[in-house]
Amino acid sequence: MEFRVLGSFGGDSPDCRMTSFLIDGSVAIDAGAITRALPIPEQRSIRHVVITHTHMDHTASLPFLIENIFGSNEGPVTFYSTRLVLAALRRHLFNNDTWPDFTRIPTQLFPSVRFVRIEAERPFTIPVPHRPDLEVTAVPVSHLVPTCGLLLRQGSSSVLLTSDTGPTERIWSIANQTSDLAACIAECSFPNRLQRVAEISLHLTPRDLASELTKLTRRVPVYVYHLKPPHVAEIRRELQDGAFTHHVEELEQGRTYRF
Ligand SMILES: [Zn+2]
Ligand SMILES: [Zn+2]
Repeated sequence: MEFRVLGSFGGDSPDCRMTSFLIDGSVAIDAGAITRALPIPEQRSIRHVVITHTHMDHTASLPFLIENIFGSNEGPVTFYSTRLVLAALRRHLFNNDTWPDFTRIPTQLFPSVRFVRIEAERPFTIPVPHRPDLEVTAVPVSHLVPTCGLLLRQGSSSVLLTSDTGPTERIWSIANQTSDLAACIAECSFPNRLQRVAEISLHLTPRDLASELTKLTRRVPVYVYHLKPPHVAEIRRELQDGAFTHHVEELEQGRTYRF
């Protein structure tokens, strides 16, 4: 799969201080930075958005994405997430106060957006033009709000994305059962100095990440994202100096990876 980093949260450009990835030009994973990262014609190619959780750095560009692509495609754009996440998006975002309810615009019969509820650990497929279908499995992780990491598979190659999480278990056992796992994308939000903050907010420090990776028995490269902007330099240093069981490198903003 072609995995483009639209926003990796940490990094040097202000545009990347939100979280979004784009697979094969048409499937977005989270939507923190889509409308800032892509020109409108490329936004129009996005037909599917998988949302890991409701936090703003993962959802902020959803309203503007819908507005920018409104009327440019036949059929609605589809948002996939678990029941609690979709309910919260309805309640707090597409509530006709914060932003219009585009699941009823222009009409309920022909809406601009369709919400599709997914179930934890039940794989579903998303059609991708000119490529094999993308198979997605959501796996609950440990964060402040209901959040799922994702196992993404296309053909015979899989990538695991932890999304935002503190120390967790299940997603690592799923990774260990995945024989075609090619890479893991893991969060690391705070420097070791802020261990307590990481614990309270259910995120990882480099020290936590090293401990989490001991649960991953597959020897795949690990790409780190979600370095909180004020601490990027400090986290980078600690990632470089840390002792990890895996090859660890920072996910590069704007780069397209082929997994
Ligand atoms: Zn979060
Ligand atoms: Zn986040």
